[in-house]
Amino acid sequence: MAYIQFLGAAGTVTGSKHLINTGDLQVLIDCGMFQGKKEWREKNWQDLPIPAREIDAVILTHAHLDHCGWIPRLYKEGYKGKVYCTPATVDLCKVVLPDSGHLQEEEADFHNKHKSSKHDPALPLYTEEDAEECLKNFVAVPFYTDQKLSEKFQYRFVHAAHIMGSGMVEVTLGLNGSKKRLIFTGDIGRVRDSNIAPGKVVHEGPEEGEQTDILVMESTYGNREHPKTDVRPEMARLIRETLQRGGTVIVPAFAVERTQKFLFLLKEMMEAGDVPNVPVHVDSPMAIKAVEIFMNHAEEFTERAKALVAQYGSPLKWPNFHFDCTQEDSRKINDQKFPMVIVSSSGMVTGGRILHHLMHRLSDPHNLVLFIGFQSPGTRGQIIKSGAKSVRIFSQDVTIRARVAALEQFSDHADTPELLQWLRTFKSAPSQTWLVHGEPDAATKMQAALTQELKWNFNIAQYMQKVEID
Ligand SMILES: [Zn+2]
Repeated sequence: MAYIQFLGAAGTVTGSKHLINTGDLQVLIDCGMFQGKKEWREKNWQDLPIPAREIDAVILTHAHLDHCGWIPRLYKEGYKGKVYCTPATVDLCKVVLPDSGHLQEEEADFHNKHKSSKHDPALPLYTEEDAEECLKNFVAVPFYTDQKLSEKFQYRFVHAAHIMGSGMVEVTLGLNGSKKRLIFTGDIGRVRDSNIAPGKVVHEGPEEGEQTDILVMESTYGNREHPKTDVRPEMARLIRETLQRGGTVIVPAFAVERTQKFLFLLKEMMEAGDVPNVPVHVDSPMAIKAVEIFMNHAEEFTERAKALVAQYGSPLKWPNFHFDCTQEDSRKINDQKFPMVIVSSSGMVTGGRILHHLMHRLSDPHNLVLFIGFQSPGTRGQIIKSGAKSVRIFSQDVTIRARVAALEQFSDHADTPELLQWLRTFKSAPSQTWLVHGEPDAATKMQAALTQELKWNFNIAQYMQKVEID
């Protein structure tokens, strides 16, 4: 029996791992890390239900950690195969995965120093070196090229328009003489209209006119709709008011693409005089590399993103914009008191240098924490965003007196109406549709809304569930 098994991102938005078992081959679509709630994070330490060495290939949709962050661990568990992904995803993983290893080493060191873990010694899930090592097995696969893992297993990437390099995986299986088609969407980007999704960087997709037997689709925004207004006036107002009262704006953001998108909009506002010209710190060990990767993949940009890049050139050359790569640079920011903007990762405040900045600045009501990305339940980002009075950072309760705001328009996830718009372009209804990558409430609401509109067979994937490919 050929089947799909949901080994992650089922019942939650993180830890994406979908196993396709054809009898001859076992292929993992995505191999993400669980983030957020402890009950899920603990699964990062558990073995897969099948031995890693028996997996034949990994096909990766994009470079967010909840899709790629468990790959170095898979190798540690004995995986010997390749990781297939698009060229931009390879470049992004080259910075994202070693950084993730580095953060986990730092976290383990911290716990060992402060004896704050029940494990002695506390260990990293994998190290920076483990991550560097596994990157040698990454294979760049261009979009729209047909690939064969075996005579019976073919696939290709089509644009998902979520982040740079993000692709959906179209799989064609030859089973018992008949062909079965499967689509794994990974994360799906916003609609094409740039007035509705201002600042959108990647343009093409999601691919229209699809046809498939089984659709495995994300449901992150199943219970919310994005505002359809231009984000820029509100973003300018929030930043301007904070700077005028002498505060600092702290922006947790994924280091590549989301950060650059924010920088270009900020630059435009400063040039227009909508925001005062204060120092901007992009604080990340991969700050410079992140800009270079961003500038190297202009092939995926929207016309508007291309125009901004053409007008302002590389952020590395902008006066008053600082790219802080070393820890020393990062520490110096803490000593500076005058108004400024700090952009740092991780985007959901699960680790990284953003922790130090928040530790220093959360208790000052002059400051503003500005979220420009999705915050998964249980993450510090979601706790701060929800209006909590304090948050735990480095084993301390830090009081939150700073103002907190969130701009949902930056989202790179389609909401239900946008997904509906895409699904309506399908040539016919899939025989099975499985919703993954959503919290239970989001998946349930999306299931209800889409079933009502389309009359398709929508199911919510359960963790560890096996689904027959019939
Ligand atoms: Zn993603």
